Amino acid sequence: MKPFDYHRAASPADAVAVLADHPHGAFLAGGTNLVDHMKLGVAQPDLLVDVSRLDLTETVHTADGGVRIGANVRNSDLAADPVIRARYPMLARALLSGASGQLRNVATTAGNLLQRTRCVYFQDVTTPCNKRSPGTGCSALDGYVRYHAILGASPHCVAVHPSDMAVAMCALDAQVVVQTRDGERRIPLDEFYRLPGDEPDRDTVLRHGELITAVELPAPPSGAVSDYRKVRDRASYAFALVSVAAELTFTSTFQIGSARVALGGVAHKPWRARRAEQVLTGDQPSAETFAAAADAELKQAVPLPGNEFKVDLARRTMMAQLRMLTERRRP
Ligand SMILES: Cc1cc2nc3c(=O)[nH]c(=O)nc-3n(C[C@H](O)[C@H](O)[C@H](O)COP(=O)(O)OP(=O)(O)OC[C@H]3O[C@@H](n4cnc5c(N)ncnc54)[C@H](O)[C@@H]3O)c2cc1C
Ligand code: SF4
Repeated sequence: MKPFDYHRAASPADAVAVLADHPHGAFLAGGTNLVDHMKLGVAQPDLLVDVSRLDLTETVHTADGGVRIGANVRNSDLAADPVIRARYPMLARALLSGASGQLRNVATTAGNLLQRTRCVYFQDVTTPCNKRSPGTGCSALDGYVRYHAILGASPHCVAVHPSDMAVAMCALDAQVVVQTRDGERRIPLDEFYRLPGDEPDRDTVLRHGELITAVELPAPPSGAVSDYRKVRDRASYAFALVSVAAELTFTSTFQIGSARVALGGVAHKPWRARRAEQVLTGDQPSAETFAAAADAELKQAVPLPGNEFKVDLARRTMMAQLRMLTERRRP
């Protein structure tokens, strides 16, 4: 590990001001991703601005019936929060499907959003990787791609975003609250993450030195039923091959009133399945409708040699999830 300086931030404004003057510095929260990367040589910050002691640890109700989740709320605490469990069950389930109990006790909301890809080449500094070292090439293109993208990839990077929590937050229309030197700004989660394009080193639209202070979720629609389903190689302690966060509401005549669906493990960002949502909304909750919705979304899929199975896996996982939610509400 390379030597680095350490500063414990006294306030969000202090954190932003200090990091702004250090182009090679980084915020430190739980450290479960960043410190691993420092040990591997993937990240080499010359300054760590420790934001883990900032008082951003509350989950509070907002005036519109939603919640505001502090950036430092630990993943375990968020999953156990009674309001989250009752009103946003897909978020609680997504959190509990990630990492391990010990890691979730330390990992923060902001750190979880900003964890980096688990592409094996990104983490191996002996291999070319455009995300880690722009312009060096992408080792995955001729390599191991079981966990890689089938949607929205580019010739420069085919990695996926690994967070489970972010997939649920994407389906829930979360807004990321960011403190900048000039004040606060809010970014819809669906616009917060980037597709790789020709700049795969940039995961998000955050600028250097901008601090996440909270994530806000609007109130869920009345009568909504939602859940998160994760398919992986092991029953625990494994990243998603494919995951589906879905929420449905039903009308009095048991048509689908509204649908919000996001996919994980398939793209450089949590993938909001808007084409599927369009097919679902206003239609009968039937196997045919679910298949049509999944097909509408996945016809844009471009699998890699070696991960073709993920297209069918995503299709079947979406259909199973929609079927399960329907059965929970069937009169
Ligand atoms: C063995 C293992 C298995 C795992 N399995 C899963 C899994 O199945 N699913 C899953 O979703 N995750 C999984 N994880 C990842 C884990 O969820 C993340 O490591 C964790 O959420 C990161 O949070 P942190 O607070 O420790 O972040 P840190 O490591 O402290 O920081 C991560 C990044 O966020 C930045 N950052 C932190 N706070 C802020 C802020 N307030 N504003 C701006 N930038 C900030 C840091 O600079 C850094 O770039 C796993 C991790 C490990 C080690
Ligand atoms: S897929 Fe992306 S992260 Fe993985 S080696 Fe290629 S450029 Fe690097």
